[in-house]
Amino acid sequence: MQDAIGNNNRDMTEMNRSAVVKILQRVEICSRADLARQTGLSQAAITKIVAVLMEMGIVVEVGNIIGESNRRSIGLGLNAGRHKVIGVKFARNMFAVGVFDISGKIYAKAEETYSPDDHKRAVLTVMKDKIREALKSHEHVVAIGLALPGPYLRDEGRIAVMTQIPTWQSINFIEEFKDEFDLPLFIEHDANAGAMAEWWFGDHERPPHTLAYFLVGDGVGSGVIERGNLLIGFQGAASEIGHISVDVHGPRCECGNYGCLELFCSAPAMLELAKKHVPECMPRGAVRNADFCDSIFEAARTGNRKAYRVVREVAEYIGYGCVTMINAYNPDVIVIGDILSRGGDLLLPTVREVVNRRIIPELNTKTQITISKLKVDPTLYGAAAIATDKVLQMPSAFSTPVDS
Ligand SMILES: [Zn+2]
Repeated sequence: MQDAIGNNNRDMTEMNRSAVVKILQRVEICSRADLARQTGLSQAAITKIVAVLMEMGIVVEVGNIIGESNRRSIGLGLNAGRHKVIGVKFARNMFAVGVFDISGKIYAKAEETYSPDDHKRAVLTVMKDKIREALKSHEHVVAIGLALPGPYLRDEGRIAVMTQIPTWQSINFIEEFKDEFDLPLFIEHDANAGAMAEWWFGDHERPPHTLAYFLVGDGVGSGVIERGNLLIGFQGAASEIGHISVDVHGPRCECGNYGCLELFCSAPAMLELAKKHVPECMPRGAVRNADFCDSIFEAARTGNRKAYRVVREVAEYIGYGCVTMINAYNPDVIVIGDILSRGGDLLLPTVREVVNRRIIPELNTKTQITISKLKVDPTLYGAAAIATDKVLQMPSAFSTPVDS
């Protein structure tokens, strides 16, 4: 069954568990038989998975439902509020802390900006205080997810290249956080987090087989999930598409390579172009790259031809990135997210034009390219999704008595 998201192999229990939770997130109430149909798993496998999820207090029976041919069956629903997670996004000039439950519902969010000149220790202290505040005001938090700019070396706990503010490369995030809270904390790079957010909470017609999340923001990166599993690589730095050379004789990148994609379609790259070609569209006083980019998109939408040309040039490079991702990963879905995705309607026609021109037709027709529709910042949401994913992978580690 090609579209089934479940798998009957015994080693796949973790993925099957998340497949069941994903369905319950979407439909809210469902019978065991429906779950078996939608996942492609056997009834016996579903009974077992549901029993574990009920023991964890994640799934509850919620009365009877009438199914096909008037058959009555027990309805199942998520009892998500009992398992909350904290998502933390650390970015180049800000960080955010959010409290979510494992169905993706957001309970609280706090955001702080910092400057590259601020002392790292001071920034970390404020970040930890915000996490502590969130823990104090919310019960049932079972795990924390932290998303960092990539490439992130997961065994070393360090960001390998943090373009624009390299001083942060010396921070060992594992050491920083390992004894700080009495909860498991999981770290992932931002594009992987975005991919997890799309996988867990994205509104896709059917569960993607291979989902590629294309982050175009202050940096450029990608995260790839095949059948629920993140592509990690040996050191955790797989699918760093932002540092793939699109002009081998181009300018030197901070990573050491030349003509990296990030130099052509990140938010700072678009700002450089805008400064040169449409300085009159640059807002005064704004500090966030997102605000600068919004004003360029706005100018392009209201008929400024020069602003539109800037957007089009950036969109072309996003298109080249998509071509590389299709050739490298053969995804059925590419989701473009982060700052530049705000220009979605302006970008997509050019992105698709580039892909149509350059990709093997048989691959092109099977790849859907979309803009992220998530209402919450995908990196922050993804930090929560990482924690959610881990909770479902290791139920016993997170299980709390149902009556507590
Ligand atoms: Zn580079």
